[in-house]
This record gives sequence, structure tokens and C-alpha cells, in this order.
Amino acid sequence: MRYSGLRVIKEALTGHKGWTPAWRDPAPKPQYDIVIIGGGGHGLATAYYLAKQFSQKSVAVLEKGWIGGGNVGRNTTIIRSNYLLDGNEPFYEFSLKLWEGLEQDFNYNAMVSQRGILNLIHSDGQRDAFIRRGNAMILNGADAELLSTAQIKARYPFLNTHDARFPIKGGLAQHRGGTVRHDAVAWGYARGADSRGVDIIQNCEVTDFRIENGTCLGVETTKGFIGAGKVGCAVAGSSSRLMAKADMRLPMESHVLQAFVSEGLKPVLPGVVTFGAGHFYVSQSDKGGLVFGGDIDGYNSYAQRGNLPVVEDVCEGGMAIFPMLGRARLLRMWGGIMDMSMDGSPIIDKTHIDGLYFNGGWCYGGFKATPASGYCFAHLLATDTPHQTATAYRFDRFEKGLMIDEKGVGNQPNLH
Ligand SMILES: Cc1cc2nc3c(=O)[nH]c(=O)nc-3n(C[C@H](O)[C@H](O)[C@H](O)COP(=O)(O)OP(=O)(O)OC[C@H]3O[C@@H](n4cnc5c(N)ncnc54)[C@H](O)[C@@H]3O)c2cc1C
Repeated sequence: MRYSGLRVIKEALTGHKGWTPAWRDPAPKPQYDIVIIGGGGHGLATAYYLAKQFSQKSVAVLEKGWIGGGNVGRNTTIIRSNYLLDGNEPFYEFSLKLWEGLEQDFNYNAMVSQRGILNLIHSDGQRDAFIRRGNAMILNGADAELLSTAQIKARYPFLNTHDARFPIKGGLAQHRGGTVRHDAVAWGYARGADSRGVDIIQNCEVTDFRIENGTCLGVETTKGFIGAGKVGCAVAGSSSRLMAKADMRLPMESHVLQAFVSEGLKPVLPGVVTFGAGHFYVSQSDKGGLVFGGDIDGYNSYAQRGNLPVVEDVCEGGMAIFPMLGRARLLRMWGGIMDMSMDGSPIIDKTHIDGLYFNGGWCYGGFKATPASGYCFAHLLATDTPHQTATAYRFDRFEKGLMIDEKGVGNQPNLH
């Protein structure tokens, strides 16, 4: 069923009896050409592009819980392509371009809102770094603009620009950045993949790999063995636990990141703002809630909940630049598990086991990457060669000393 304005009117006039489920609930088949583990944004996008772009007819996505229950439905919804290094910037700009056409492409309203993102500058050294980053972005075909304090005050009057502990000295803006309704991304990709024949199997946990003579033949699951020509793993925060079942130790740790939503307020923030002297970022949802976050909880964990010291730290960061935040009540908070790679950049690569492929290491920044990650992983699975924008995301970069030393990712979040 195609969604359209006319369809909404027709259904409204006929008692909404014509809507069909957005995706099927199939039983798993014994064998697929390609099995994707993980029904988060990246796994579903991979399946969608495998079917749409690479004409794969026999694909399944196995999800241990429900679609949208992982980080794809837990993040703070920010998209941007403001990276510095060549290994990253073309990939994230490719992703932003895919976001720009996504809703028409998969025929689903994901509320892609290019309301802009502003990284605040608090020192002269930081200005130099952001000018360099802005120039790198422009050279890679992205947009970037350096704003003065006066320009920022005109756009964001609630920011404390007069007596803040860390004075605002300007900002780097990417006007094409913004927010996207996160769970709608999962639903849109799921619906698009399902309509092209992909089986999306929920409540189906992968418990082991069947590997014989160095080749992966399929996966053991809570619904029995499922054979596969190729297996693609896209389980984000569960990456190290899953890959341990294939005897692989990843250059990755899992940490919790928390998100917060205030009560609904009248419009006060036109775009996304990040604090450059501490770690705090905020946007306002279409319902009026301020959606914000900051540092990861500083310990390894697989629990989808965080601790109070980080709540205090995040709120302090917010109050430092945005004192009116102290008057708003907090409505909700939650946590998600981050697959933190050792250089802060992801991996989209084959493993040393034939037929086993890996996608992970997204840290706290993988939502914006969802379309490109799915596209590039599908490219790798279908063609056995990396997509041109993802050639740096290899396992062996740690072994060869070719780390992608991007600032503002991994353990240096406040520098983005
Ligand atoms: C609080 C928070 C804020 C964030 N903010 C942003 C942001 O503003 N911008 C941004 O770009 N990124 C952000 N991120 C990061 C982003 O959400 C993640 O990097 C990204 O969503 C990870 O990819 P995914 O969607 O595929 O993960 P997930 O949705 O977590 O998908 C992985 C899926 O794998 C499933 N799975 C795990 N193990 C198994 C198994 N054995 N068998 C079957 N299924 C399994 C899980 O149930 C899960 O559904 C944030 C994350 C959090 C938690």
C-alpha cells in the first residue's frame, strides 16, 4: 500500500478500514541468501538497500526484541555531516544526502527536519579548529558557516551570551543538519524492505553461529537454525557479545548513553545546539519537549539505563549556556548501549570468517549514519567490495596503525 495525502483523506472518509499492517510477521525459512542480525536502523536499512538497490530476493532480518526497541528508537535524533577527516566526511555527507531524499524514497513520513545544527565556540583555539573543520566540510561538498555571537544571539535569544562561565565567541553552523523522528526511520525502512520481499523476524535472538572449516553456514536462533549464504551483523551495543560467539574479540567497549526530554514548551529553540566547553546538546521536538544529552556513563555496561551522576553533569552543562532550562521539568529519561570503537569511528567490513560480515562501532553517533551505513553494508554484502565512501572502515586499521583520528567522536565527544 502506498501512503499519500489522498489515501489519508480516503481512509478518513471510509472509517479507516483500509489500512494494512506496515510489515508482515513471517515465520523464518530454513535458508536465505543473506541474513542480517539486528533489526535496528542499520540492519533494516541494509536489508532495504539489499532488496531495492542490489536486487537481492532472499533476505531476512533477525531481531531479538522488536523493531525500534534498540538505539534507533532511543537516540536524540540528530543528523549532521560536520566531520573533519577524509575517512569520515564523505561517508557522513553521503548519509545526509540520503536523508534528504529518504521520505520520498521509502514512502514514509520520518519527519526529516533540516532545522540546522550549531556548534558553539568558547575560545580562540576552538574557533581555529572549527574553521578548519568547516573548510574540510565545504571541500567535501557539505555546507558550513561560521557565525558571530551577534548572529547566534539573534537566532537563539535564550542562550546566555553575556555572563556565562564559558563565553560564547561564535559558532559553526551546518544548516542542512537537523533532526529526524527516530522510530519512524526504523518503521519506514522495515516497511520498505518488507514490501520488497525481506522477511523481518522479531523475537528471534541469534544465540550462536554455525561455522565449519572457516565458513559461516548460518545462525542458531531461539526459533531454530537458519541457514545463510552470507550473515551480516548489525547489533550496535551488543556487537562484542555477539561476535564473541564467533570467537572474535572486537576493538570495542559497550557504554551507556542517556537521553532526556523535558515537558512540552512553546518554541524556544529553532535548531540543534551543542555546547563546546562541556558536553551538552539540545534540540526541541515538534511536541515542544527539549531533547538533550551529554556524556556517556563512564563504565562498561549492557544495561539500557544510566546513573544519576551523569544526569547531574548533563544538567550542569545545559545550565551553563541555557539557564532557562532550570525552570523546565524533566519528563522522561532513558539509556541505550553504545558500541564504542577505540578510535570513535565505525567498522563496515568482512571478517576473517568466510560469509560473516560486520557493521558496528557507531559509538553515540550512528543514527545520522543510518542510511549510508545500510547502503554501504548492502554494497559490501552484495558485491564483496566496500562502497567508495566506506573504504576506511576496516578491521585492520587498528593492526596497521591507520586509525581515523577524528576529534569529537569516541572519547572526545565535546569536540564536535
Ligand atoms: C541516548 C542516545 C542518544 C543518541 N543520539 C544520537 C544522535 O543524536 N545522533 C546520532 O547520530 N546518533 C545518536 N545515537 C547513536 C545511535 O542511536 C546508534 O549509533 C545507532 O542507532 C546504532 O545502530 P542501530 O540503529 O542499528 O542500533 P539498534 O537500534 O540498537 O539495533 C541493534 C539491534 O540488534 C538487536 N540485537 C542485539 N543482539 C541480537 C541478537 N543476538 N540477535 C538478534 N538481534 C539482536 C537489538 O535488539 C537491537 O534492536 C544515540 C544513542 C543513544 C542511546
